[in-house]
Amino acid sequence: YNVTERIIIELVKYLEDNYGFYIENPLNFTKQEFEFFKKYALEYKKFESRWKWMDLYPHLIPIFFREFLFPIYNRDPSVRELYNLGFGNFPNKLKEVLGVSYGKWKEEQRYYDFKKCNRCGQFLPNEEFEKKKGFEKQKRSAYRSMCRNCRNDVKRISIYDKKYRLIKNILGGKCYDCGADLTGLDGYEFHHLFQELKTATWREIKEKNYEEIVEWTIHDRVIPLCGNCHVKRTATVFLIQKELILLENLFTFSSQEIDVLIAERVEEYRDQIGSGKNQVRKWIKKRFVFLQLFFGKCVGCGKITVYNNLPALQLHHLFPELLETKHKWYDLADLDCEISMDTIMDEQCVALCSNCHSAIGSRFQELVDEIVIVGHRMLIEQHLGNFINEFEKPCRIVNQNSKIPPDVIECFNIINRKVRFNSVAGNIIKGYAASTAYKYKKHTLFVVSDSPLTTKEFIERFVHIAQKSQDQAGIILPVVLMNENKDKLDRKPLKLRND
Ligand SMILES: [Zn+2]
Ligand SMILES: [Zn+2]
Ligand SMILES: [Zn+2]
Ligand SMILES: [Zn+2]
Repeated sequence: YNVTERIIIELVKYLEDNYGFYIENPLNFTKQEFEFFKKYALEYKKFESRWKWMDLYPHLIPIFFREFLFPIYNRDPSVRELYNLGFGNFPNKLKEVLGVSYGKWKEEQRYYDFKKCNRCGQFLPNEEFEKKKGFEKQKRSAYRSMCRNCRNDVKRISIYDKKYRLIKNILGGKCYDCGADLTGLDGYEFHHLFQELKTATWREIKEKNYEEIVEWTIHDRVIPLCGNCHVKRTATVFLIQKELILLENLFTFSSQEIDVLIAERVEEYRDQIGSGKNQVRKWIKKRFVFLQLFFGKCVGCGKITVYNNLPALQLHHLFPELLETKHKWYDLADLDCEISMDTIMDEQCVALCSNCHSAIGSRFQELVDEIVIVGHRMLIEQHLGNFINEFEKPCRIVNQNSKIPPDVIECFNIINRKVRFNSVAGNIIKGYAASTAYKYKKHTLFVVSDSPLTTKEFIERFVHIAQKSQDQAGIILPVVLMNENKDKLDRKPLKLRND
């Protein structure tokens, strides 16, 4: 190779000097090498041989490997593969410069054990990737292209999406029993009204394709129930013994008297619930404890109480990160009331209904890193100041009348006077420029506070769909089809071009 290269260089020189010929790429650099030279500002035209840079900049060898050779197959290529790709001399030069064989070097650099995830782009140990089906025993190239985390993410998003479409398009768009909207979608269950029609549960069917799931919905005649209504329908013992559990003056009786009452009632329904004595006692305890500690109601919506839906109430830990063990009500129900109440106080719990719990527990909330508000600073501070100060996430206000900063004008090639600083576009740009996303060239979500479509449901839905295409698009807009020319508020459609 070296001889060939030298001859080529001589030849090129000769042609250049005598005939004014010019050869673009005498050393046969590949696309990867050109990109590499450009990125690290190497003056490749001065190299007298193809791998000269390895002599000059040995510290760039791992970088070149990781950024340009590794991604070709998304793993470390073998010597033969390198040869076929046109990098045949890379291993030789590497040995010459670093004094170790290619294989040994890769082992030292731990390339054997690492793989790049196609979705999040991280280099992760092989254990973080599932093996492809049927390749469990093979050592190389048998891993999936996405890391476990990303695969789970994608799966979750797709299931969430199917669940949403199913309820929205096929099943009436709301809870069958109470008419709740889909804010607590995470907690929604598909309930079988007719056990004899049941072919599968949601858990069994949710990973199938949408069409199959639609068929299941229709065949099994399931109904969508919000978390609250679902527990209400399925708490068997509670439903049978409701009258006793919620008896008006129950707590004026002594515990022995209550025990007698329970014994009588359970005897009456023995054939239905077997020995449900202990269960009934637990429900009564739950009523008592939630009344004592939480005024008997959900601190989120205030609507769900021990009297209208005792089964739906749950314990929520305010500071889960500080605790080693977190008890659910179910774990405490067997304990003495005093002890369970102490535990609940120690663990700093509040009471939430199932719907409120799934709304705040939704993992999609974690996607919020920070909040930037663009508007009339003085009015916002006046009206929302306290609110903003209590936000868990960093929150900034950008005044709608401020000028667009010069560096932002330059970054977005804004033509002076074409974009007014206080127009919609101007304020969108200012808002984006104030976000961390701008710094890292990432997407951010814009929400218009006075649009009738700015609902939590719409936003969550949009975010899920947008995730799928955010790699391919700089800006993703929901398009709203309006049948008439004006919307319900008598406004004309927004003309995106003008704005
Ligand atoms: Zn990943
Ligand atoms: Zn409901
Ligand atoms: Zn609630
Ligand atoms: Zn919780």
